[in-house]
Amino acid sequence: MAAALLIPFKHCRIACSWLFLVCTVPLLLFSSIASAEWFREEADVMGTRISVELWADNQAQANTVIALAMDELRWVDNTMSPYIETSELYRINQLAAKQPVVISKDLFQLIEKAQYFSKESNGAFDISFSSVGHFYDYRAGVKPNQQQLVQNLAAINYQLIKLDAEHSTIFFQHPNIKIDLGGIAKGYAVDHAIAVLEKNNIVSAIVAAGGDSRIIGDRFGDPWVIGVRHPRQENTYAVRIPLENTAISTSGDYERFFIKNGERVHHILNPVTGLPANKVQSASILSAKAVDTDALSTTVFVLGVEQGLALVNRMQGVDAIIIDGEGKLHYSDELLLAE
Ligand code: ADP
Ligand code: MG
Repeated sequence: MAAALLIPFKHCRIACSWLFLVCTVPLLLFSSIASAEWFREEADVMGTRISVELWADNQAQANTVIALAMDELRWVDNTMSPYIETSELYRINQLAAKQPVVISKDLFQLIEKAQYFSKESNGAFDISFSSVGHFYDYRAGVKPNQQQLVQNLAAINYQLIKLDAEHSTIFFQHPNIKIDLGGIAKGYAVDHAIAVLEKNNIVSAIVAAGGDSRIIGDRFGDPWVIGVRHPRQENTYAVRIPLENTAISTSGDYERFFIKNGERVHHILNPVTGLPANKVQSASILSAKAVDTDALSTTVFVLGVEQGLALVNRMQGVDAIIIDGEGKLHYSDELLLAE
């Protein structure tokens, strides 16, 4: 598959020879603007590599805002991780099948959003995938056995997750339900980090959490160039996209997986079967907010090319790039291909 250059006109402003400019303009500006410069920091949070890169007046300003952004990401992890025993989400999974559990407004709203994407996708996105999903251990090469699959498949059903807005509670109408926000929480965290940067007057930045990124502004009149990974060739891009002021998420079957008997066992599950979704190799979504692109990249990955594009094409301000099972690229209606 040749690396294509894709120009999504809704999400960026295109300069004619923009690639040349991306390479040269920052150098020119570094020499002309003496005090301000780019700062970048990385950390491991939420089981993934987080990076914050921004343009700031000086090191002290950069340190302060990057620390605040990282704090937001850690707050989301500490609240919403299914593994951290003190997290709110952990507590929900312990109790919500027995009784309604009062939860914070932030978590309530995020679960509400997850439920919205479940409804829109007819259950392709479903945070109760974890009812079966928690039996997978990708590092250890373990998948659920037949009995675990059969006993817990009925617990994958977002309609059995009951939210009560008046009392701010959550209740599971099946004893085996477990929820996991892994398909939406990183995007949510990225949005929170971006909000902190904006509040602190940062006008040019990128925050990336694994496959979820959001950009504020541009790079001195030129777009940022974001690569969508080739799903079968490491360190190769299938597409490179010039972007500004947008979020982009990619879900791929190469992020967390093991191969057993020639079968790729990966981390995005089809809620109908409890088995890895196998229609496509990757799905990338572009939209204003990372919480939406994150949830939708997982959703479209499960739905596949036809249903995934149908969903995206009927949503306002959302675009998709899908790499199918054969490695072929597919684009939503409003993306313009220019090679
Ligand atoms: P990542 O950036 O971690 O690869 P993705 O956005 O691609 O995340 O989503 C994968 C994660 O979403 C899985 O690790 C799991 O936590 C969660 N997930 C898997 N299948 C589903 C599903 N059908 N609906 C909602 N969430 C899912
Ligand atoms: Mg996702």
